[in-house]
Amino acid sequence: MPIDPGRRALILRELGLAPIWVPRDRLHSAPAPDLAVAEAPAPAATAQDLAEDRTARILRMEWPELKQEVKGCTACGLHAGRTQTVFGVGDEQADWLLVGEGPGAEEDARGEPFVGQAGRLLDNMLAAIGLARGRDVYIANVVKCRPPGNRVPEPQEAAQCEPFLLQQIRLIAPRLIVALGKTAASNLLHTDASIGSLRGRLHSFQGIPLLVTYHPAYLLRNLPDKAKAWEDLCLACDTMKRLKAGDSAAS
Ligand code: URA
Repeated sequence: MPIDPGRRALILRELGLAPIWVPRDRLHSAPAPDLAVAEAPAPAATAQDLAEDRTARILRMEWPELKQEVKGCTACGLHAGRTQTVFGVGDEQADWLLVGEGPGAEEDARGEPFVGQAGRLLDNMLAAIGLARGRDVYIANVVKCRPPGNRVPEPQEAAQCEPFLLQQIRLIAPRLIVALGKTAASNLLHTDASIGSLRGRLHSFQGIPLLVTYHPAYLLRNLPDKAKAWEDLCLACDTMKRLKAGDSAAS
């Protein structure tokens, strides 16, 4: 009984004898056997591979590309509810980097962080230590899109946005980071500890000194803690002085 050419090719391939020769007249009369030696299928990229590639790509970006990437980002569900992304604002070579949680309604409408009531308090806090938005200060958030109803960003939403904040920090290279509130502190320091236990001492984010204080929106609801926030700002100023003095001593 003649062997079907397709089956023959399979058998030969199993025996390690492929590729095989097929007479030209049979090439068209029978279904063409698969003569190519099957290539080992490339292992499918895992979700983790894709996430690592995305992070690596973002961590190579300069400011214009990074801003574009954030503007077009649809990596998590928050994009669906935004009016616009809120990238960050300020001096791109600032010594001070303040990190909040995420845009609220006014920030979403205006495209700038901390422009609502909490933002006005933040501006006053900055003024109290001789700083101003945009003058040696950069302000960014953990997430760049407004969480619905101003809820805390989900871990998976913060994780998608993390490379953006990371690259902002790398490009700014601030001397000091101030984490405003629990979301910023826990995402930057990868801890679940309370603000109360984190404030008052120096931490490090990838070698950059980091201090933790209360979020301005929390202070609006908890006026007595403003005194503690003031202590934190004084510590931040002292730390900055020491960092600058250290730099000039070293040069
Ligand atoms: N709260 C934040 O954490 N960030 C903003 O931009 C506004 C309010």
